[in-house]
Amino acid sequence: MSELQNQECPFCGEKKCTLRDEELEIPFFGKVFVFSLDCAGCGARKSDVEPAERKEPCKYTLELESEDDLTIKVVKSGEATLKIPHVITIESGPASEGYVTNVEGVLERVKAAIQSSLDSEEDDGAKDKARNLIKKLNRALVGREKLKIILEDPSGNSAIISDKAQKSKL
Ligand SMILES: [Zn+2]
Repeated sequence: MSELQNQECPFCGEKKCTLRDEELEIPFFGKVFVFSLDCAGCGARKSDVEPAERKEPCKYTLELESEDDLTIKVVKSGEATLKIPHVITIESGPASEGYVTNVEGVLERVKAAIQSSLDSEEDDGAKDKARNLIKKLNRALVGREKLKIILEDPSGNSAIISDKAQKSKL
């Protein structure tokens, strides 16, 4: 892993930004580079994942059935759309992050995203809905709720690494 400190921040311009990059070898996927930026000046954080080789557009679908499935490794690039039907769709875009984690990490991120929207939500109906989604995710995090996770990536830089995941063309 390499790290550069006190770099100029692309968001606030202060020289308080730490840039890191790391090379990871992911079994059945290959080598990837993980980049991250972290600014002590303005609090900006950003990360993304880039594979060492060019890949074809892809779509992965995983049926989450038990607690064991929580450890399945997930590579998500900033260009991927993450869908959990009946829970959330996180579109790709400038604010979308790339990361390497496992299913548990994905569910925790989704939970945090719903939690932060709940904090700013005024409408009672929408609040109830968000709270129910958080409960559903909490059940899934102990293997007691069946969910489907879909990753669609036109850059092909994402994967759900398991024999249980179905890979198809996008
Ligand atoms: Zn900054």
